[in-house]
Amino acid sequence: MCGFIGMIDDAPVAARISTGLQAIQHRGQDSGGIFTFDGQRFPGHRGLGLIRDVFDEPLIRGLPGNAGVGHVRYPTIGKGVLADAQPFFERRPGVLMAHNGNLTNYDRLREHLRERSVHLLSNCDVEPLLCTFADELMARRRRHHTAADVVQALRSTFAAVEGAFSAVMVLEVDGEPTLVAFRDPRGIRPAVYGRRGAGWMVASESVALDTAGYELIGDLEAGRAMFLRPGREPEVFDVEIRQKAPCVFESIYFSRPDSVEGGETVYERRLELGRRLARRWKAKGLDADRVIPVPDTSRPAAIAFAEEMGLPCREGFIKNRYSGRTFIMGTQEGRTAALRLKLNLIKAEFKGQNVVIIDDSIVRGTTVKRLLELVWAQEPAAVHFAIHAPPVLHPCFYGIDMSTHDELAARRYLSEGDGDGALDIDAQEELEARWAADLGVTSLTFLGVEDLEGPFPTERCSACFDGIYPLPIPDAQRETIVQDRTNGRLRPVSV
Ligand code: SF4
Repeated sequence: MCGFIGMIDDAPVAARISTGLQAIQHRGQDSGGIFTFDGQRFPGHRGLGLIRDVFDEPLIRGLPGNAGVGHVRYPTIGKGVLADAQPFFERRPGVLMAHNGNLTNYDRLREHLRERSVHLLSNCDVEPLLCTFADELMARRRRHHTAADVVQALRSTFAAVEGAFSAVMVLEVDGEPTLVAFRDPRGIRPAVYGRRGAGWMVASESVALDTAGYELIGDLEAGRAMFLRPGREPEVFDVEIRQKAPCVFESIYFSRPDSVEGGETVYERRLELGRRLARRWKAKGLDADRVIPVPDTSRPAAIAFAEEMGLPCREGFIKNRYSGRTFIMGTQEGRTAALRLKLNLIKAEFKGQNVVIIDDSIVRGTTVKRLLELVWAQEPAAVHFAIHAPPVLHPCFYGIDMSTHDELAARRYLSEGDGDGALDIDAQEELEARWAADLGVTSLTFLGVEDLEGPFPTERCSACFDGIYPLPIPDAQRETIVQDRTNGRLRPVSV
């Protein structure tokens, strides 16, 4: 998962790109970069770490240009080294690109490019996307590219690449600097756009627009390319359109609650998930003294859960806001230490109490175990765990880093014959009971896949919960992706 920003205006954009990137820093902390275009040159800078550490004022001042692209990276492919940091630049025809997503045919693309004597410098999958686009554009015309050339080159690029991707580019089109944004045919990964005076901005999440002072207009449509120039209305072209399938995990876990996706605030969606979770919990005949969210993602769901149950919602875990996200840390030991650093408990909220802890999801199950170690030390009377998502039973190949069956904790508690698709009510209750016993909690409750109907549109990707992949991945390709994960080209993570 990563975050990108594209901006074009009648004034320099680097400072506002850096502000916007800090608003989406949660989407990636491994590296950051900003490149701009001043009509002649494409100056830029990339570095490892947080935006506030990578950039200072002199660096930003050294990036003139009224169009630019910025990125924060979390590696789903590649190792998180500087060579993999985005944005990327291609000299011919002179184009900047940054993206969020995952190309599922990365290895085949790389081979294909190599056969055409195009050699890659990184393990970052935006590079083959950019090289393929640049190759296709140059094949049409060597210079003076028109919007029609760019759209044709994008159509050929879409025919060559597979996966989930939202991207922004800056290049000269019809003799003018132009910001071009596009989203894969199913719109799996998010992208929104907005305006500020004469200027335009595209970003992975709307909070970046709020922070940089832009008014949100809406989502970039799946399978389309949008051309943006200062003082002019956007031009939108169809590239390749399939049935829409935006990722539900964005709203459940990844996005900030103040972001707007598909016209709905993530906060509202989490409230509704919390209400639905309370109804499932109540149906089990359970009761508790208080509701405690695991900060920060699950707070809205916990508030709604508590309201629905008529219980107090209390803070029991206090987050150290200056520590990193645990799943970014490299080793198991590092992650344990990071959790201690990240969360401390308000002991009185647990001691002798019957608590229901709300969390957003369980993927590998390592964080929940460590969290419970901290909780048991406070001698609670009873601990219930309730998750505002269904059990994660299937890998994601579209840019969230959980790409093997083996790493998914929920699969360890499946009954024989279950696990090809979504679980029915009985199978889910069995899984919950087994898992609760293993964790030592009084109860464990997940949402059902049917609870996603309502908070999310019917056209969606919820493949990690129900096994219905909007873009099927052939077995051989799955194998390559899994091997990339297990041979160390990709780092393991713990969500
Ligand atoms: S499989 Fe899950 S995480 Fe991946 S895109 Fe679909 S909903 Fe999102």
